Amino acid sequence: MTDLIVPPIPLPLQHIPTAGGLVVPWITPRTADGRYLFGSVDRDRMRRALLNRWCGVCGQPLEDRAVLMMRLSDLPRQCTSEPALHPWCAAYTSESCPMIGGRLDRYRSSLPRLDANMLPAPDASARQSAAAEPWFAVWLVGYRVITDHGNLAASYSGMKPLRIRPITWRLPSIL
Ligand SMILES: [Zn+2]
Repeated sequence: MTDLIVPPIPLPLQHIPTAGGLVVPWITPRTADGRYLFGSVDRDRMRRALLNRWCGVCGQPLEDRAVLMMRLSDLPRQCTSEPALHPWCAAYTSESCPMIGGRLDRYRSSLPRLDANMLPAPDASARQSAAAEPWFAVWLVGYRVITDHGNLAASYSGMKPLRIRPITWRLPSIL
Protein backbone atom coordinates (compact mmCIF):
# COMPACT_ATOMS: atom_id res chain seq x y z
CA MET A 1 0.00 0.00 0.00
CA THR A 2 1.58 3.26 -1.08
CA ASP A 3 -0.58 5.42 1.18
CA LEU A 4 0.46 3.69 4.40
CA ILE A 5 3.15 5.54 6.29
CA VAL A 6 4.36 4.35 9.67
CA PRO A 7 5.86 7.36 11.47
CA PRO A 8 7.68 7.01 14.80
CA ILE A 9 5.31 6.98 17.78
CA PRO A 10 5.80 9.98 20.11
CA LEU A 11 6.76 9.15 23.70
CA PRO A 12 3.43 10.20 25.28
CA LEU A 13 1.64 7.70 22.99
CA GLN A 14 3.83 4.67 23.53
CA HIS A 15 1.40 2.97 25.94
CA ILE A 16 -1.45 3.03 23.38
CA PRO A 17 -2.39 -0.09 21.38
CA THR A 18 -1.13 -0.18 17.82
CA ALA A 19 -2.26 -1.95 14.67
CA GLY A 20 0.20 -2.35 11.80
CA GLY A 21 2.62 -0.03 13.60
CA LEU A 22 0.06 2.80 13.87
CA VAL A 23 -1.40 4.08 17.14
CA VAL A 24 -5.08 3.18 17.41
CA PRO A 25 -6.92 6.40 18.34
CA TRP A 26 -8.94 6.16 21.55
CA ILE A 27 -12.16 6.90 19.65
CA THR A 28 -11.60 4.11 17.10
CA PRO A 29 -14.16 1.31 17.54
CA ARG A 30 -13.11 -2.30 18.01
CA THR A 31 -15.18 -5.20 16.73
CA ALA A 32 -16.14 -8.15 18.93
CA ASP A 33 -13.41 -10.22 17.23
CA GLY A 34 -10.77 -7.59 18.03
CA ARG A 35 -10.37 -5.70 14.74
CA TYR A 36 -10.02 -1.92 14.83
CA LEU A 37 -12.15 0.05 12.40
CA PHE A 38 -9.90 2.91 11.36
CA GLY A 39 -11.92 5.76 9.89
CA SER A 40 -15.01 5.00 12.02
CA VAL A 41 -15.73 6.33 15.48
CA ASP A 42 -17.06 4.94 18.74
CA ARG A 43 -19.88 7.42 19.37
CA ASP A 44 -19.88 6.93 23.13
CA ARG A 45 -16.14 7.57 23.42
CA MET A 46 -16.39 10.55 21.06
CA ARG A 47 -19.08 12.04 23.31
CA ARG A 48 -17.10 11.40 26.48
CA ALA A 49 -13.95 12.90 24.97
CA LEU A 50 -15.77 16.06 23.87
CA LEU A 51 -17.59 16.56 27.19
CA ASN A 52 -14.63 15.76 29.44
CA ARG A 53 -12.05 17.54 27.28
CA TRP A 54 -10.08 14.39 26.68
CA CYS A 55 -7.88 13.91 23.63
CA GLY A 56 -9.44 11.83 20.84
CA VAL A 57 -6.17 10.04 20.11
CA CYS A 58 -4.80 9.12 23.55
CA GLY A 59 -7.92 9.55 25.70
CA GLN A 60 -5.99 11.64 28.27
CA PRO A 61 -7.11 15.09 29.53
CA LEU A 62 -6.14 18.01 27.32
CA GLU A 63 -3.69 20.49 28.79
CA ASP A 64 -3.27 24.19 27.99
CA ARG A 65 -3.50 23.70 24.21
CA ALA A 66 -6.20 21.93 22.21
CA VAL A 67 -5.98 21.25 18.49
CA LEU A 68 -9.07 20.67 16.36
CA MET A 69 -8.50 18.93 13.04
CA MET A 70 -10.89 20.68 10.66
CA ARG A 71 -11.89 20.24 7.05
CA LEU A 72 -12.04 23.35 4.88
CA SER A 73 -15.84 23.14 4.88
CA ASP A 74 -15.94 23.05 8.72
CA LEU A 75 -13.95 26.27 9.14
CA PRO A 76 -16.74 28.81 8.48
CA ARG A 77 -18.94 27.12 11.11
CA GLN A 78 -16.10 27.06 13.66
CA CYS A 79 -17.07 23.66 15.02
CA THR A 80 -16.43 19.96 14.52
CA SER A 81 -17.89 16.82 16.05
CA GLU A 82 -14.44 15.28 16.36
CA PRO A 83 -12.70 15.66 19.72
CA ALA A 84 -9.75 17.99 20.18
CA LEU A 85 -6.22 16.60 20.36
CA HIS A 86 -3.00 17.31 22.21
CA PRO A 87 -0.52 19.13 19.94
CA TRP A 88 1.71 16.03 19.78
CA CYS A 89 -1.27 13.79 19.04
CA ALA A 90 -2.35 16.18 16.27
CA ALA A 91 1.15 16.13 14.77
CA TYR A 92 1.19 12.33 14.86
CA THR A 93 -2.26 12.19 13.24
CA SER A 94 -1.15 14.54 10.44
CA GLU A 95 1.72 12.17 9.70
CA SER A 96 -0.08 8.86 10.06
CA CYS A 97 -3.64 9.40 8.80
CA PRO A 98 -3.71 9.02 5.01
CA MET A 99 -6.81 11.18 4.68
CA ILE A 100 -5.67 14.08 6.86
CA GLY A 101 -2.14 13.86 5.47
CA GLY A 102 -3.50 14.35 1.96
CA ARG A 103 -2.29 11.02 0.61
CA LEU A 104 -5.76 9.88 -0.45
CA ASP A 105 -7.61 11.73 -3.17
CA ARG A 106 -11.01 10.43 -2.20
CA TYR A 107 -12.78 9.02 0.79
CA ARG A 108 -13.36 5.28 0.72
CA SER A 109 -16.33 4.44 -1.46
CA SER A 110 -17.86 1.82 0.81
CA LEU A 111 -18.45 2.07 4.52
CA PRO A 112 -16.93 -0.61 6.76
CA ARG A 113 -19.29 -3.11 8.31
CA LEU A 114 -19.83 -2.15 11.95
CA ASP A 115 -20.96 -4.07 14.99
CA ALA A 116 -24.41 -3.30 16.37
CA ASN A 117 -23.04 -0.92 19.03
CA MET A 118 -21.09 1.19 16.54
CA LEU A 119 -22.03 3.96 14.22
CA PRO A 120 -20.19 5.39 11.29
CA ALA A 121 -18.79 8.90 11.68
CA PRO A 122 -21.73 11.34 11.71
CA ASP A 123 -21.02 12.59 8.23
CA ALA A 124 -19.75 9.29 6.82
CA SER A 125 -22.46 8.91 4.22
CA ALA A 126 -22.01 12.49 3.03
CA ARG A 127 -18.27 11.90 2.76
CA GLN A 128 -18.65 8.62 0.91
CA SER A 129 -16.67 8.89 -2.33
CA ALA A 130 -16.51 12.66 -1.95
CA ALA A 131 -13.32 14.32 -3.09
CA ALA A 132 -10.89 14.68 -0.20
CA GLU A 133 -10.86 18.15 1.31
CA PRO A 134 -7.93 20.16 2.62
CA TRP A 135 -7.47 19.84 6.39
CA PHE A 136 -6.41 22.45 8.91
CA ALA A 137 -5.12 22.29 12.48
CA VAL A 138 -6.89 24.91 14.62
CA TRP A 139 -4.90 25.68 17.80
CA LEU A 140 -6.97 26.84 20.76
CA VAL A 141 -6.69 27.37 24.49
CA GLY A 142 -10.09 25.67 24.86
CA TYR A 143 -13.46 25.09 23.24
CA ARG A 144 -17.16 25.11 24.08
CA VAL A 145 -19.33 22.01 23.69
CA ILE A 146 -22.40 22.77 21.59
CA THR A 147 -25.10 20.72 19.89
CA ASP A 148 -24.77 20.92 16.12
CA HIS A 149 -27.47 19.20 14.01
CA GLY A 150 -28.20 16.90 16.95
CA ASN A 151 -24.55 15.95 17.53
CA LEU A 152 -22.21 17.26 20.17
CA ALA A 153 -19.48 19.41 18.70
CA ALA A 154 -16.44 21.38 19.84
CA SER A 155 -16.94 25.03 18.94
CA TYR A 156 -14.58 28.01 19.02
CA SER A 157 -17.17 30.51 17.87
CA GLY A 158 -16.47 33.85 19.56
CA MET A 159 -12.97 32.77 20.56
CA LYS A 160 -9.80 33.72 18.78
CA PRO A 161 -7.79 30.69 17.66
CA LEU A 162 -4.08 30.86 18.51
CA ARG A 163 -3.44 29.85 14.92
CA ILE A 164 -4.95 27.96 12.00
CA ARG A 165 -2.34 25.91 10.18
CA PRO A 166 -3.04 24.25 6.82
CA ILE A 167 -2.10 20.58 6.90
CA THR A 168 -2.87 19.97 3.26
CA TRP A 169 -3.63 22.60 0.72
CA ARG A 170 -3.68 21.75 -2.92
CA LEU A 171 -4.08 24.30 -5.65
CA PRO A 172 -6.70 23.42 -8.25
CA SER A 173 -5.09 21.54 -11.14
CA ILE A 174 -6.01 24.29 -13.63
CA LEU A 175 -3.46 26.62 -12.03
ZN1 LIG B 1 -3.49 13.02 23.16
